[in-house]
Amino acid sequence: MLRGKKALVTGSTSGIGLAIAKSLAEQGCHIILNGFGEAKAIEDLQRDMARDYKVDVTFEGVDLTDVSGMEAMAKRLDQKGGVDILVNNAGVQFVNPIETFPVAKWDLIIALSLSAPFHLTRLLLPAMRQRKWGRIVNIASAHALVASPFKSAYVSAKHGLAGLTKVVALEAAEDGVTCNALCPGYVHTPLVDAQIDDTAKARGITREAVIRDVMLGPQATKKFVRTDEIGGFVVFLCSASADSITGAVMPIDGAWTSQ
Ligand code: NAD
Repeated sequence: MLRGKKALVTGSTSGIGLAIAKSLAEQGCHIILNGFGEAKAIEDLQRDMARDYKVDVTFEGVDLTDVSGMEAMAKRLDQKGGVDILVNNAGVQFVNPIETFPVAKWDLIIALSLSAPFHLTRLLLPAMRQRKWGRIVNIASAHALVASPFKSAYVSAKHGLAGLTKVVALEAAEDGVTCNALCPGYVHTPLVDAQIDDTAKARGITREAVIRDVMLGPQATKKFVRTDEIGGFVVFLCSASADSITGAVMPIDGAWTSQ
């Protein structure tokens, strides 16, 4: 059913986004990659994925804090027939007490994790509506459901993204377009690796204690969530079995938020 659909996965040069892009490609979706990275590494990734999954793999390197860049990309994609599946995944983290939280980091996180999904949705939804089929999957976080100290921008942006998900689901409901949010617990990607040291500093504890007590402490499974689990969930949400799942904000967090 997904064969030949076009999927834009933001932030797919790394981590969770890359795993989602591969899972969709495995089902026969043509993939539009996005994100930062070395040109050679991205070219290699495009070539390898196209060969392994026998789909088209293109790349849009737009910085998702640049509204006019997103508008230009949407125009290019529309001229090539539009996008069927939008996965808003790109994100960054910054860990710091609120009194000294850098204003530029607040602006960046809100722009990337909340405003970019708003812009891409408003730009790409019309073509989905016309075709009477579309899927929007927002990669939120357990931090869309609960808070942790020192993550004011991230928690605010992800809670906002959960709200946006519900509004889009309501507005698009009669046009065959679903919009859902996935809320992973900790996944061991470069984003998480980078925050271990910052969290250790903010809390005055060791790296090992950050992993054991802060990250895996609340995850009842005591395991990181795997990227392929998230890829598989996105594929399910894009299937016909998930036609009526819309406006849902769903944890994949080893029962972290059950507590
Ligand atoms: P990652 O650092 O491995 O990947 C982030 C991706 O976003 C990269 O491809 C990067 O190039 C891209 N990106 C960053 N800034 C960008 C910009 N301005 N424009 C375009 N692309 C940009 O991180 P990840 O852990 O795979 O995180 C992916 C998403 O999953 C994020 O939204 C994150 O908040 C969310 N998430 C992660 C975890 C976790 O534990 N890793 C848990 C819950 C939610």
